[in-house]
Amino acid sequence: MVTLVSACLLGENCKYNGGNNDNIYVKLYLKDRDYVAFCPEIAGGLEVPRLPCEICGNRVVNSEGEDLTEEFTDGAEQALELCREAGVELAVLKEGSPSCGVNWIYDGTFEHVRTPGQGITAKLLTENGIKCISEEDIVNGRYK
Ligand code: SF4
Repeated sequence: MVTLVSACLLGENCKYNGGNNDNIYVKLYLKDRDYVAFCPEIAGGLEVPRLPCEICGNRVVNSEGEDLTEEFTDGAEQALELCREAGVELAVLKEGSPSCGVNWIYDGTFEHVRTPGQGITAKLLTENGIKCISEEDIVNGRYK
């Protein structure tokens, strides 16, 4: 089985602020597994660094109100295509991200308020039968 992983969880500097979300628990989880790393926002054409984005209704906007739904959707579709090509059945994704969030996202107010929901990529993968878990699920021992 092949696993898709958010590239920032493996230390790639693709996060909006130019940093990453390097996570030793995710690395240990993947140690003996086949995996592919992917960042849907970079694939969708966004740059590093970039303004933070949140899901607002059925749109994705940045903190200046620019609509980036198309870029986020494009990145999600590329993620799904990669999953199909590589035979991915499981995705380990960065919690809270407007692309990768699995169990919660920010609520669109840019006030650091969490709300239950999924990012654009996590939602598309889930709808297409790919199981999505987050790094928080791994850290909390829900998946070993
Ligand atoms: Fe990480 Fe996903 Fe954001 Fe890319 S889109 S930086 S992989 S959380």
